[in-house]
Amino acid sequence: MPTSTPTPVKAAPKGPARRRCGAPGCTTKIPAGHIMCGPDWALLPALLRRNVHYAHKGRELDRDSYRAALRQARRAVQAAKNRITTPETARA
Ligand SMILES: [Zn+2]
Repeated sequence: MPTSTPTPVKAAPKGPARRRCGAPGCTTKIPAGHIMCGPDWALLPALLRRNVHYAHKGRELDRDSYRAALRQARRAVQAAKNRITTPETARA
């Protein structure tokens, strides 16, 4: 570890740094470190959830896998929502 450069410590806000849910069209605020809000996360198949979870953990090492997993998750959520809100897929 380089000790010469002092790390600019910007006092991280104590409260949870909030960010937007990763699901498409969802504006729910979620704590940093989370990927999606609870309801959206619950829409994901268990396997995909695990996938994303592990990819998220290792995102520093393998960003591509994380992005791919995230994209898959977004799609799954979108598909699940479409199924719930609009029975017929009215998409060009
Ligand atoms: Zn959400």
